[in-house]
Amino acid sequence: MTGDPARQERLRELNLGLVFREVLAADAPLSRTELAAATGLTRPTITRIVEELLAGRLVTETGTNPDGRAGRPRVGLTLSRTGPAGLGLDIRSDGLAACVVDLAGRVRHLAFAPLTDTDAPAVLERLGRMAAEAVTAAAAEDLTVVTATLAVPGPVDGGIVRTAPALGWRDVPAADLLDAALSGLGLATAVDSEANLAARGELHATGADRALTHFVYVSGGLDIGAGLVMDGRLMRGARGWGGELGHVTVDPEGKPCRCGSRGCLQTYASLPALLGGEVVPAGASPESVILGRADAGRPETLAALDAAASALGVALANVCNLLGVDTVFLGGSFALLDSWLSAGVQAELSQRVLFADWAPVTVRPATIGPDAAAIGAALAVVDRVSADPSAWLAANR
Ligand SMILES: [Zn+2]
Repeated sequence: MTGDPARQERLRELNLGLVFREVLAADAPLSRTELAAATGLTRPTITRIVEELLAGRLVTETGTNPDGRAGRPRVGLTLSRTGPAGLGLDIRSDGLAACVVDLAGRVRHLAFAPLTDTDAPAVLERLGRMAAEAVTAAAAEDLTVVTATLAVPGPVDGGIVRTAPALGWRDVPAADLLDAALSGLGLATAVDSEANLAARGELHATGADRALTHFVYVSGGLDIGAGLVMDGRLMRGARGWGGELGHVTVDPEGKPCRCGSRGCLQTYASLPALLGGEVVPAGASPESVILGRADAGRPETLAALDAAASALGVALANVCNLLGVDTVFLGGSFALLDSWLSAGVQAELSQRVLFADWAPVTVRPATIGPDAAAIGAALAVVDRVSADPSAWLAANR
């Protein structure tokens, strides 16, 4: 044993992280005895670390009486409702969202504003004001926002939105614009694609289902994106460009796609493909127009939905065969159109996925709904604090 202070301090930080992550991963409050057993640390060490975590508002004590028994309550430790929080900002086709979550991923603030101007500086300036309001609202609940992550409807390369056709954006330096819009708030910022962040949100929402560690979340809309979760982690690809399911080829001889290729999934299953030139009235959503036409039995809409479901199933079958993913979440516009799509998607998966005879691929509508990406973006705080809880404690003494 050495008395080297730097080494002692490093050991203290490692043990503190170990204990905090046990509380983070637990489904129920943990007693100090359970924490000692789970980490292999001594009771005095656990007691000292828990005191630090309590003082730093990372965990809180809760009295629970198992099975409703009377008597002295058992004291458990669980994630605090105060302390660090994350801000998620989302640019959606119908507006801008700002969401604050606490360490347990509970939504503590959610605001929405219509999207009146898609010009990037104007959008970021509006988001900057929403962020300031969210930080103030969080502070009123004794929450300190430490991260801000922006979800955009397109692939992001080193903070630059390469292409987001829904907004008319190309090579927009979103990370720089976000930093400028949020200057003075002192937040750790990041930008990622809507599909990646929605998949992150879905991973948290289904976290109680520990068996669900491999899935693809496919988000429909003006553009189609996908977030891929493998081994319980979001996979982004070499430059964060993975998940461009919309440009997976369904038919090499198909219709031209704006990407320069032909027969991409996008040309079958995006909202413009499903609308088939139908104009969306002011105040209505594209999905409501498609659903109305489908319910009325309009043959061209029913044919478009069938073609979209088939193309989506073919594209997803390739993903499942290659990666062994066994669950598909239909998100974004696909969640709203789920009743018209899921049977067709399932039929293609059953026919085309090799392992489907033994383990059928499950197709489910996304569980969170339109706020999935904003929530997933806000959850960056969990990753940041759990990676180094000592840093939070040191900065908030
Ligand atoms: Zn394409």
